[in-house]
Amino acid sequence: MTLFDRFEKAFMPNYGVPPVALARGEGTRVWDVDGKEYLDFIGGIAVSSLGHAHPALVEAVSKQVATLAHTSNLFLHEPEVLLAEKLLALLNAPGRIFFANSGTEANEAAYKLALKYGKQDGRSYFVAAENGFHGRTIGALSLTGKKAIRDQFGPFPVEVKFVPYGDATALKEAVTGDCIAVFLEPTQGEAGVVPPPDGYLEAAREVCDSTGALLVADEIQSAIGRTGHWFAHQADGVTPDILTLAKGLGGGLPIGACIGFGDAGKLFDKGDHGSTFGGNPVSCAAALAVLDNLDLDHVKKVAVQLRTGLEAIDHPLLKGVRGRGLWLATVLNEPVAPKVQQAAAEAGFLVNALQPDAVRLAPPLVVTEDEIQQFVDAFPGVLSNA
Ligand SMILES: *Cc1c(COP(=O)(O)O)cnc(C)c1O
Repeated sequence: MTLFDRFEKAFMPNYGVPPVALARGEGTRVWDVDGKEYLDFIGGIAVSSLGHAHPALVEAVSKQVATLAHTSNLFLHEPEVLLAEKLLALLNAPGRIFFANSGTEANEAAYKLALKYGKQDGRSYFVAAENGFHGRTIGALSLTGKKAIRDQFGPFPVEVKFVPYGDATALKEAVTGDCIAVFLEPTQGEAGVVPPPDGYLEAAREVCDSTGALLVADEIQSAIGRTGHWFAHQADGVTPDILTLAKGLGGGLPIGACIGFGDAGKLFDKGDHGSTFGGNPVSCAAALAVLDNLDLDHVKKVAVQLRTGLEAIDHPLLKGVRGRGLWLATVLNEPVAPKVQQAAAEAGFLVNALQPDAVRLAPPLVVTEDEIQQFVDAFPGVLSNA
């Protein structure tokens, strides 16, 4: 039996059987179990920010696991304090942090913070965006604007009104003094790497300010350098009330964060929330290594190279390119993204068929100019083979 057959037999069918079995990686390169080499242009869904087996991450994690791997929240440890302080310094706004293990847990914390806020003055509903993605646990799922993955698990405890993403007028109409919070991604990730029109986040900030609803920025996919900024919202000059992080923060180790700014950081009382593993020393050490070793100037430079390289491709299947920084979707003229993904893998590149007509690219933020060039040079052939 192959590894794929064994996977299919042992696992629940929720993922289907993935097409490639990976064995190891180094930088942007990964090798499958048969020794075939690929350039990883998806980075474990925008997670492997330092690439694979980065020496600084390996050292930080190895040292920490050999020193103290776990304390629970009954005891504190220095790596979590260093990481919280570092994130707050990068955010440059007064805030308080809660560490979780994943994106959905970070949003679950944000959801509970918001609920607590809303109960103070009888607010009754949330607003979120159509096609938005916030996670798979029940609170985060209830905010996720994809009927196919949400509705079969409802009804949910609190009403969520969905508005078309990027439509500031619809958002303003939906948010009233009864609204608890607005959950938005600064650029939608799972929906197909869809940036909003200019001014959208500012409009969201304005309507939240005028109605008293909290603005929650879900930056689980967009933060930690992915767009060329530490946090995507910084490019819009907007500070949310609550910010959630995960994916790229741990560089492959599981960690999520929920950050409340101003009064939103002080809503939880002792005992209101918790996590046994959240903010464990090993994940915090990994995240510190990520923050210490990312080079945003490099990200900006190679991001321009990737985008201009792809935009210069003249191919009947390629409709265009959208996204921000090292986080792009190549948009196709036909719904053949799975075939493009497969042709890319055959050519030695890992990409992700995100939507029927959109292929996501989110390479490690340490991807080299040479690796970008290899991908750009190969992409027309990949499209032709799809
Ligand atoms: C991935 C993602 C999540 C969920 O994160 P998990 O770690 O898979 O739970 C939530 N929000 C956004 C925007 C994401 O991209």
